[in-house]
Amino acid sequence: MSAPLVSARRLRVEYPGRAGGRVRALRDVDLDILQGETLGLVGESGCGKSTLGRALLRVIEPSAGRIEFAGSDLTRMRGRQLRRTRAELQMVFQDPFGSLNPRRKVADIVAEPLLRARGATRGEAAKAVAELLDLVGLGAEAGARRPHEFSGGQRQRIGIARALASSPQFVVADEAVSALDVSIQAQVLNLLSDLVRDRGLTMLFISHDLGVVRHIADRIAVMYLGQIIEIASRDAFFTGPAHPYSRALLSSVPALRRPGGDPAREREVLEGELPDPANPPEGCLFRTRCPIAAPECRTRMPELREIAPGRSVRCHLPLISGDLGLADSGGSASPAIKDVTL
Ligand code: SF4
Repeated sequence: MSAPLVSARRLRVEYPGRAGGRVRALRDVDLDILQGETLGLVGESGCGKSTLGRALLRVIEPSAGRIEFAGSDLTRMRGRQLRRTRAELQMVFQDPFGSLNPRRKVADIVAEPLLRARGATRGEAAKAVAELLDLVGLGAEAGARRPHEFSGGQRQRIGIARALASSPQFVVADEAVSALDVSIQAQVLNLLSDLVRDRGLTMLFISHDLGVVRHIADRIAVMYLGQIIEIASRDAFFTGPAHPYSRALLSSVPALRRPGGDPAREREVLEGELPDPANPPEGCLFRTRCPIAAPECRTRMPELREIAPGRSVRCHLPLISGDLGLADSGGSASPAIKDVTL
């Protein structure tokens, strides 16, 4: 297994709540993103996925905790060292149009990180921009046009070319294909996969769409109310999610239910709404919606603990399926609850 390129330890982001008090958007998150992998980050909207992606890049300043990038403490970096390191950390946004200046030519948009972060000359930047536009399948001639002349998928390719311009090691793709038609999504996903493989990138791929994540991620991390509640390899996750919340997420997507599975068990859905992050439940944060909550879940918050090699779950009663080659914990989910909306 590769070494971590990016690590978060007890990473916390808080902000003032509307009715006073503090809202914890990230609750002491521990996470390793391994060199060369694509880690898929999933969960309902409002669970903290985007906050985590931005905090790892220090676009949002953490309230507490530590981020390591390539062995250096990113949280303590300042000034020139931070600017230099930021060139290694880039983001691909959901709305490529909103993030591209409509008045500028594409060549200037893509060249900007090269000029700013890498100190390239105009000549070097022009050559690199032509290569990048070729790499993302637009062709060098696209540089003379402006963003509004392109389709949504093409604009996302411009956003990817810009993100790659500073030769980053780590890219956060935040809902990078959500705004695109399904046929275009596949093209952009293939492009991102090829870039990760060919350029040795490490990527955090944030999405509410489990079907999309299944296509691109090596491992999956699931978030709920600012906590990581499960981490597993893609295959382990999609064949036997161990956290009740993960199982409900998966069962809410008919195409991802396990073939031949018991329909009563396979249709595990969630009760109730996502709790107010400013006023979370005591004990396990998921207990108000959990179909198998036990008395101890009310009083004791579960730790994220390893239940099998490479697999960690934050639950007192993880649902361990036969797919893992481990004994069933005896947990079963009630079907009498309603759908989760991703
Ligand atoms: Fe459900 Fe308890 Fe596990 Fe929380 S700790 S997910 S309430 S079983």
